[in-house]
Amino acid sequence: MSHGEPVYQMLWDCRYCGQKKLLGITHRFCAGCGAPQDPNARYFPADHEKVAVQGHPYVGADVACPACRQPMARAAKCCTNCGSPLDKGGDVARRADVVVPPPGVVPANAPMQARPPAKSSLGLILGIVGGVLLLLVASVLVMALWKREGVFEVSGHSWERHITIERHEAVKKSVWCDDAPGNARVLSRRKEQRGTKKEPDGETCGMRKQDLGNGSYKEVKECTPKFKEVPQMEDRCDIEVTEWRRARTLTEKGASLAEAPRWPAARTSGGTCIGCEREGPRTERYTVEFVDAKDGSSATCEVPEAQWAAFAKGSKWKGNVRVMTGGIDCDNLARL
Ligand SMILES: [Zn+2]
Ligand SMILES: [Zn+2]
Repeated sequence: MSHGEPVYQMLWDCRYCGQKKLLGITHRFCAGCGAPQDPNARYFPADHEKVAVQGHPYVGADVACPACRQPMARAAKCCTNCGSPLDKGGDVARRADVVVPPPGVVPANAPMQARPPAKSSLGLILGIVGGVLLLLVASVLVMALWKREGVFEVSGHSWERHITIERHEAVKKSVWCDDAPGNARVLSRRKEQRGTKKEPDGETCGMRKQDLGNGSYKEVKECTPKFKEVPQMEDRCDIEVTEWRRARTLTEKGASLAEAPRWPAARTSGGTCIGCEREGPRTERYTVEFVDAKDGSSATCEVPEAQWAAFAKGSKWKGNVRVMTGGIDCDNLARL
């Protein structure tokens, strides 16, 4: 045989005299009654009944005689049973492969109790959780979308402007040495576990029984690689770096249109010394205050600076109020 895979005899039972476990290669005729072997009666033996095939050259699956259906060796020219030529004969039927999974693997056709618990209860739980989530989403949507019309009078204005002041500081921290910035001073270095990685760990093998069609079958090893998780050790560094960090925030505020918005005066030292300061990000906010003409309640809208002054004090605007959460729909205000 090629590949050196072990080859064993198929077994067959005689349907005339009831003789069991006849050998597929050795017994071309029933040892009990002499009836010819029926290739459709062949089956794979149990492990303890395996009989190895030795010194039997494999020439291919048997040919079914086109005249009398008897299986003949592929090498034969004429049927030994009826004398018919075999060149128009096809292969005899073969048994489907039998797959023996590696130890510890539950085969797909195993009985129910050997398999993981059915997922019907899991499905029920998922269904309930999904239903509750859907209800939550629906109620949030209702709260956000349920609106009534209203008329609002501008009652006031306010603005805020902020400048963040940053200070250049020396900072100690611990990072993976790979991630240390170029200007960092490494104070110390040690090995630490950084997650896990997969390493090859041999293979796990099952076996496939393949009917060769001539009364024998071969056993083909089927292996898949195995992996194990191992700790991944990498260098951890204690470093000192200089960084710009938020030191404080300067604020200017106004409470009417009359106070023109202005930025706080930020006097910084400049330079990049330790302790030097610089200007960081700026933020600004412009707010219009309204009174609801219906119930006298107050609400506010944040607007861009360009629109802020257009909301003249005392002017009336039509818009929507969110019924559940309160608050004006600030994007859809129309002057009356
Ligand atoms: Zn027989
Ligand atoms: Zn024949």
